Amino acid sequence: MSSSKHMETKLIHAGELRPRVGGAVNLPIFQSATFEYGGEDDYHDIRYIRLNNTPNHNVLGEKLAAIENAEAGLVAASGMAIISTTMLSILHKGDHILLQDCLYGGTHDFVTKDLPSLGIEYDFIDGSDPSSWEKKIRKQTKAIYVETIANPLMDVPELLAVVDFARSHKIVSIIDNTFASPINFRPAEHGFDLSLHSCTKYLNGHSDIVAGACIGKAALVKDVKRKLNHLGGTMDPHAAFLLHRGLKTLALRVKYQNESAKKIAHYLQKHSEIDRVNYPGLATHPAYASAEKLFDGFGGMLSFELKGEDADKTDEFLKALQLPICAPSLGGVESLITRPATTSHLGLSREDRKKIGISDSLVRFSTGIEATEDLIEDFDQALKKISSKVVR
Ligand SMILES: *Cc1c(COP(=O)(O)O)cnc(C)c1O
Repeated sequence: MSSSKHMETKLIHAGELRPRVGGAVNLPIFQSATFEYGGEDDYHDIRYIRLNNTPNHNVLGEKLAAIENAEAGLVAASGMAIISTTMLSILHKGDHILLQDCLYGGTHDFVTKDLPSLGIEYDFIDGSDPSSWEKKIRKQTKAIYVETIANPLMDVPELLAVVDFARSHKIVSIIDNTFASPINFRPAEHGFDLSLHSCTKYLNGHSDIVAGACIGKAALVKDVKRKLNHLGGTMDPHAAFLLHRGLKTLALRVKYQNESAKKIAHYLQKHSEIDRVNYPGLATHPAYASAEKLFDGFGGMLSFELKGEDADKTDEFLKALQLPICAPSLGGVESLITRPATTSHLGLSREDRKKIGISDSLVRFSTGIEATEDLIEDFDQALKKISSKVVR
């Protein structure tokens, strides 16, 4: 399909099998572990489910590449399967990687707990301060790794500086694009080598599967696929079917979530019980100017602090909410809410959390597709409840 088509069209038509299987409008689930031998002469071309080459895998890979305007795409069993496999395909014993200092918890754990035992070294960098990166580069540095929008303060690194830095040092630039989704940011268009996704979140969008993807330069994606074939983090055909179905409404969902989150962020910012709102679409966000230039939308994720840094009062607030479900994860059709001090950052001491800006009253919100007015009304009644009550 022509790459000049719009996102909405590509989500429906890109990568689809022609002719359609038996005329079926929807791609069937190929529930087959193995496929008839067709003269393949490379192990990785043998058609076998773990080798990530069933029609369900191939269609998704092509569709994802098309929507990010990249050369190639690959799906995997989970976000962490693709993140760990990608790192292991690029990094070998003696190598070194630079990473943004506020990473997804699983990625942070993998880097700090698993890479050293494989003889791979790392350094963390401040994504917003490119002048400090030069000091950390080594002869052995192979890659720089950032997240488009990082949890839970919605930090946005200097994205274009990452690409320039990687090019000038001839290292691989990798970005976890989960929070932005391809609707709001397409890394390949700006020169990133590899874009990674937890498809568990926006790409599937219905909180009912775990899945991952790697999108980018064909030669690199091919290496990641070979490593994935060996490590075995293969996507199951049923998960592939659900991801394929979820993807079709990605643009509709995310555009609505962008608008809804923006309205909620503005509402919260004006509320007397709220201290600070973290959302890249607010002029008060440190990276607002570059986010406005680079993003097509600011996303559905935001966080905010209740006045007083009171954990009990914050928990009362969460309990008083009737619509958002208190649960980890994000990017689904239902709004989800968490207090990072008790979920994603529970592993850190209170002092260490404070150092990285995560107070006891910080709340993270994943905007679903409910009516914005109903969500704001719900926030309003819950905030009234806690302001009229002295907790503790
Ligand atoms: C959830 C998430 C992951 C991990 O993905 P899984 O699908 O849970 O393995 C990685 N990065 C980010 C930013 C995430 O939100």
